[in-house]
Amino acid sequence: MGIRLEAITKEYTVGDELVAALAGVSLAIETGEFVAIMGPSGSGKSTMMNILGCLDRPTSGSYLLDGQEVAHLTDDQLAYIRNRSIGFVFQNFNLLSRTTAWENVALPLVYAKIGEKERLEQAAALLESVGLGTRKQHLPNELSGGQRQRVAIARALINNPSIIMADEPTGNLDSRSSIEIMKLFGTLHRQGKTIILVTHEPDIAAYAKRIITVRDGLIISDEVKESNYV
Ligand code: ADP
Ligand code: ADP
Repeated sequence: MGIRLEAITKEYTVGDELVAALAGVSLAIETGEFVAIMGPSGSGKSTMMNILGCLDRPTSGSYLLDGQEVAHLTDDQLAYIRNRSIGFVFQNFNLLSRTTAWENVALPLVYAKIGEKERLEQAAALLESVGLGTRKQHLPNELSGGQRQRVAIARALINNPSIIMADEPTGNLDSRSSIEIMKLFGTLHRQGKTIILVTHEPDIAAYAKRIITVRDGLIISDEVKESNYV
C-alpha cells in the first residue's frame, strides 16, 4: 500500500514547445514515512506534489494510492480521494482571516456534512493536540506565524487523512517557529501519518527521515538517514 509512482511524466505545451516538468519518475513511499522533497526552482517539485496530492493528473504513467490506480480519474473522483486521504499544509497558511481558529479547523467538516456540535468538538480536540487549546477563539491575525501554521495543521488533520502534504510549510516562519512545526510533523509521523513535504532548506529537510532530490523532472537522489527530530 502507500504510494507507488511508476514512470510518471507530466508535460506542458508552452508555445509550440513541449516542457517535461516530470520526465519519468518512479517512486515508492510506504505508509508512515516522513519524506522531504528538495530541488532547485523549476525542477518539478510542485508538479510532483500536485500529482501526489491528487490535485492534478500525470500525462502518462501509473499512480497507485493505497492500491488504487488514480492516474486517470476525473476531477470529482480525485477530489473525493483527496478529501478522504490527504491533508494539505501551505506556506501561507490559507486560513480564513475573519474566522476563528476553531471554525477554521472545523470548516472541512461542514463539507463532510458533520453536525455543528460534533465539528466543534473534533476541532477543539485537534487544537488542544497542537497546543492551541487556549487560542480557539482567536482570529488568525491574533496569532503568531507558528501558531497559524499549527491551526492549519489541525485543519489538515480534521478528516483524519493518512497522508499530510506540506509545501514549504516553514517558508514564512522564523527559525524557532520552523523547528516547532517540524517537531510537530515528527510527532504526527510517530503517530503513523505519512508526511511529505517540499522544502528548499536543508536544515528543514533534515527533520525528515528520507530526502528525495529532484532535478530537471527526475529524481537524482533518494537517501534514508537519521533525522534531526526529537
Ligand atoms: P518547482 O516546483 O521545482 O519550482 P515546477 O514543478 O513548478 O518546479 O515546474 C517544473 C517545470 O514545469 C518548469 O520548467 C515549469 O516552468 C514547468 N511548468 C510547471 N507548471 C507549468 C504550467 N502550468 N504550464 C507550463 N509549464 C509549467
Ligand atoms: P482543494 O482543491 O482540495 O479544494 P484548497 O486549496 O481549496 O484545495 O483547500 C486546501 C485546504 O483548505 C484543505 O485543507 C481544505 O480542507 C481547506 N479548505 C477548502 N476550502 C476552504 C474554504 N472555503 N475555507 C477554508 N478552508 C478551506
